[in-house]
Amino acid sequence: MTIRTKESIWTKKCKSIKATKETIAFIKNLFSDRADLIPLHEPYFGGKEKIYLNECIESTFVSSVGPFVNQFEQQLAKYCGAKNAVAVVNGTAALHIGLEVLGVGNNDEVITQSLTFVATANAISYCGAKPVFIDVEKGSMGMSPSALRLFLETNGEKRENECYNKKTGNKISACLPMHTYGFAADIDQICEIARQWNIPVIEDAAEAIGSSFKEKSLGTFGDIGVFSFNGNKIITAGGGGALITNNTEYAERAKHLTTTAKTYHQYEFLHDQIGYNYRMPNLNAALLCAQLEGIEEILSNKRRLAEEYKNYFDSIGVPFRWESPNSIANFWLMCIETETKLDRDSFLKESNKQGIMTRPTWQLMHKLPMYKECIKDNQINAQYLAERIINLPSSYRTNA
Ligand SMILES: *Cc1c(COP(=O)(O)O)cnc(C)c1O
Repeated sequence: MTIRTKESIWTKKCKSIKATKETIAFIKNLFSDRADLIPLHEPYFGGKEKIYLNECIESTFVSSVGPFVNQFEQQLAKYCGAKNAVAVVNGTAALHIGLEVLGVGNNDEVITQSLTFVATANAISYCGAKPVFIDVEKGSMGMSPSALRLFLETNGEKRENECYNKKTGNKISACLPMHTYGFAADIDQICEIARQWNIPVIEDAAEAIGSSFKEKSLGTFGDIGVFSFNGNKIITAGGGGALITNNTEYAERAKHLTTTAKTYHQYEFLHDQIGYNYRMPNLNAALLCAQLEGIEEILSNKRRLAEEYKNYFDSIGVPFRWESPNSIANFWLMCIETETKLDRDSFLKESNKQGIMTRPTWQLMHKLPMYKECIKDNQINAQYLAERIINLPSSYRTNA
């Protein structure tokens, strides 16, 4: 009995070392266009980026006024099938303003997930509100509708058109699910539950431009959706972000708040509330107009990479993350799940040593010092995923 146990651990270890070697060779071969380092996600500029940037410089409209901002907003709204888009300086600012537009204020609670990038929770804090961490589903890596329902049935109390946490007495003023790595959360169920409790929804679709659920773009299910165009995202302006919404009043308020709340006057400086300088410069918008024109090519190139990864990982019996039924993923960051945390750590160490950028997922929010006292549920799935996910190099390939 003892010997057999030892044997099986030994065989498994041998297998995993062999699998590590093979996998590293496989990734190097996929990215044979890269020299010494294979990055996690590199930008790709294959269209009119330089032409549009030159137009900005030649016209001198590089900053907060210029035609590319409006053009990009229209182009983005059309691409997503949303009525309005508001371009801002980055995704975090978009989340902040989205929450403010929905009325999130001091001492409110905002329901979100612990498995996310820190910006999601930080934006809630900027409003003086507190994040409440609900578990994710293993299947989607997004907020679990059943965990959301359970939390609200246990803690929620409807008062007039609002929802309160009956244990803390605080208002629950928004629900902020995130579409992890561009894979769709079960967003129509989340929205349905939130609606039953009179809680507005803002989707953190920062990673999810080009992804859809039931043929509708992510970001268009909630009251507001948010994108990021940071350098590591699918399309980029260096830095940038946007809100999309079908509610024109929300869009107007977002525009006003992000442009120092200035009211129109031919020459006077009139501001009617405390606003923010969150506008997107024309220079960044120029880059984004070109990037959005080329998004279909980027998406199909990345999908081919995902298919090659999937064939390979299927053949060695390692789960490679795929889109759930009814949804299309943009495959922003591709990922596998190892059997154990130990396997994850050894693969991370070996691949990074060999110049392949692989990464674990984020530290769960409720483990960070500033969020460890926040309300949370059992976080079983978030914990499971956090110990096993490995992000693989996912860039556009010029050799594919
Ligand atoms: C990138 C990202 C953001 C923030 O976007 P920035 O443009 O970097 O401010 C927010 N949420 C998630 C989930 C992200 O991945």
